[in-house]
Amino acid sequence: MAYNDFNMDSQWLPFTPNRSFMKNPRVFVAADGMEFTTHDGSKVIDGISSLWCVGAGHNRKPINEAIKKQLDTLDYSTAFQASNDRAFQAAEMIAAMAPGDLNKVLFCNSGSEAADTSLKLALAYHRARGEGHRTVFIGREKGYHGVGFGGMSVGGIPANRKAFSSALLPRVDHMRFIHDPVNNAYINGVEPVSQEDMLLELENRILPLHDPSNVAAIIVEPVAGSAGWYLPPQGYLKRLREICDKHGILLIFDEVITGFGRMGTNFGADFYGVVPDMLNFAKCVTNGVIPMGGVICRDKLYDTMMKTDAPPHVIEFFHGYTYSGHPVACAAAIATLELFQQDKLFARAGEMGKVLGNAFHSTFKGMPNVIGIRSLGLAAAVELAPIAGSPGKRAYDIFIDCFNNGALVRPAGDVLVIAPPYIVEKSHIDKLVNTLADSIRKHA
Ligand code: PMP
Repeated sequence: MAYNDFNMDSQWLPFTPNRSFMKNPRVFVAADGMEFTTHDGSKVIDGISSLWCVGAGHNRKPINEAIKKQLDTLDYSTAFQASNDRAFQAAEMIAAMAPGDLNKVLFCNSGSEAADTSLKLALAYHRARGEGHRTVFIGREKGYHGVGFGGMSVGGIPANRKAFSSALLPRVDHMRFIHDPVNNAYINGVEPVSQEDMLLELENRILPLHDPSNVAAIIVEPVAGSAGWYLPPQGYLKRLREICDKHGILLIFDEVITGFGRMGTNFGADFYGVVPDMLNFAKCVTNGVIPMGGVICRDKLYDTMMKTDAPPHVIEFFHGYTYSGHPVACAAAIATLELFQQDKLFARAGEMGKVLGNAFHSTFKGMPNVIGIRSLGLAAAVELAPIAGSPGKRAYDIFIDCFNNGALVRPAGDVLVIAPPYIVEKSHIDKLVNTLADSIRKHA
């Protein structure tokens, strides 16, 4: 099939330079395992799990079958004042995988919705405890929490906020970005700042500025994914947990990328040994096949919200989406999580992550324009010096070139990321890394 077999006039592509796309379209028509087929019949290796979603690889029969069966059984019910069996089963599986007393799952349909849900829950929880003055949120530079007004406000990637800066939530601050001095040896030539400096900044500047008793929640990704896989130093998240506990502030982990196996563990929370008060998920929970997101909450949040002497018809939390706990999405989640467990895919992600990390460090070290190499779990990033006056151009050109040579990699500013499905083989890693290396040389 040629791309002019379908009309390209109507779609406005999200997060895409549409004008250049239309001149050089990249359109997938099929996918299986690690590989896409494009509109012109070429094969492309999925080096980024299609936006960090497809952990189990494409076209997995147990997931497809579960979806078909669910469609023939209960296609949709309602999300409010009633639910469905699949939603309870999926919630039970997800809660069982989460650490500590993260026991209650509130479903939505995306990572952006999960971010806004968690922020609203934080406000409602404090209000229910008689601390309605806690309305300040703290995010982190380089953080990404989706595109809703809440998530965008706490997010810290400047390009995502620029056009909307006058309309963001008013009581938000950002911690400076912290990077691990060992794994992030240099970032754009800036020396790493120690974790103590960063945490002192939180305790000595940011919290006193707002008064910690006004702060509702701190939200971070355990590893900053969308910005280009920036890793926190050892112990940083634990100290953040202690600071939150000291001041009665909720800690939210946005695990839309780090959740469900990317780190070789169930969640980033497990990897770092820190239990947040809320954990946001999406993407891999359904292998990306059907949209789903959610927030897993600690018991204290649910119990506090339910502790009310209001009459029985009064709703405790005024929030939800028409498709929260959609039975087809939940059937996909159940089948996905079973497949992950049955094939031990998280352990495999951890093992293949070492292969990927070694390939990155041995291949890119010393190459032209390379100013940073980072790897952890089954994801790795190579950071390039930006072209003066044209940030992001070099990585974008390399992304296009890699695509044309059969490798889907992800540009993020001047960083290129590879984060393949957990079923990846060494041969795929070699192909992805070598294609990227050739292209980096070509664009030196
Ligand atoms: N949070 C994080 C950490 C993410 O990586 C993303 C998506 N990349 C989101 C939130 C937003 O998810 P969605 O695009 O599903 O709204």
